[in-house]
Amino acid sequence: MRRLLTEYIHSPERAAKIIRDGGLVAFPTETVFGIGVDATNGDAVAKLFEAKGRPSDNPLIVHLDDPAHWARAASDLPGVAEALLDAFCPGPLTVVLPKRPTISEQVTAGLTTVGIRIPDHPIAREILQLAAVPVAAPSANRSGRPSGTTWQSVSEDLDGRIDAIFKANSTTIGIESTVVDCSGSQPVLLRPGAITLEQLQKHAPQTKQLGTQDKRRMIVSGEQVNSPGILHPHYQPNAKVIMVDGLPPEISNDVLAVSAFCGIEGFDESHDFALCKIFESLESYAAGFYEFLREVDRQSVQRVFVQAAPDEGIGRALRDRQRRAAGG
Ligand code: AMP
Ligand code: MG
Repeated sequence: MRRLLTEYIHSPERAAKIIRDGGLVAFPTETVFGIGVDATNGDAVAKLFEAKGRPSDNPLIVHLDDPAHWARAASDLPGVAEALLDAFCPGPLTVVLPKRPTISEQVTAGLTTVGIRIPDHPIAREILQLAAVPVAAPSANRSGRPSGTTWQSVSEDLDGRIDAIFKANSTTIGIESTVVDCSGSQPVLLRPGAITLEQLQKHAPQTKQLGTQDKRRMIVSGEQVNSPGILHPHYQPNAKVIMVDGLPPEISNDVLAVSAFCGIEGFDESHDFALCKIFESLESYAAGFYEFLREVDRQSVQRVFVQAAPDEGIGRALRDRQRRAAGG
């Protein structure tokens, strides 16, 4: 693809203007950085898929400045979706709804539904408000790589491939939004995120988890997948990722010298890893996980042992990303 001269910007007005003119702008949200594009402009959306190298069957989430504007992207708001928007938006939640025809077919990968999200980040909201169009925004990284949570990481992957990058602080949550399909008879949690199944069930009690059995059946049979993105390779650094429960196994010094480790506890500092990070909390582990994987690649470390996150709170979402980073 033709190399662009990427602008580094600090102005929401400039970002909104580029989006309205059919360009691509990376900007921060509370989850990860996104690459924003006008979701009603098919040519612009096609450029976005090319810039990311994203498979065309992986739908994009449409971002809006206010939950009250859901009708800019969706054709209907079922009661459960309204309850979830009321409870959690703006925030790290995507609800899948019947699609409105003005949203480009490429955005939804030909599906009849659209995922909408209202980010809770002052810069993102200002850009969305000024752009005044629905903005499709996938994570700001080359397809398959760990998501961008700092503008520097976004630049590593996308400089020369998108029109602008908003220079802002690193994102706080660090893991992509919870995705709930509200287009069927019962809400289905498609992707875990900072908002947990238990939290969703307080407001939409029928919400159920998409089971691993369901996913396996879809892969084996090739049947129409309601969320194709959950099947693509994702979040993978060049280094080999090995998930461990607790501490890494005993390994020789030769292997240690080309290995990294990250986790939250119980680590004996006498281990001699090439690179090692112990996070102070589950939240900071989630927030720093992708950036650590990227640092492993910057330092050309060959493998990374990743301590599996506990199955609680945001740990469940982090564990999901860890498993996928490990190729599972
Ligand atoms: P990303 O932009 O990389 O955070 O990925 C967006 C993900 O949201 C996709 O990979 C899907 O899993 C999910 N998604 C987006 N739109 C839809 C939709 N219409 N139906 C189901 N899942 C969706
Ligand atoms: Mg992504």
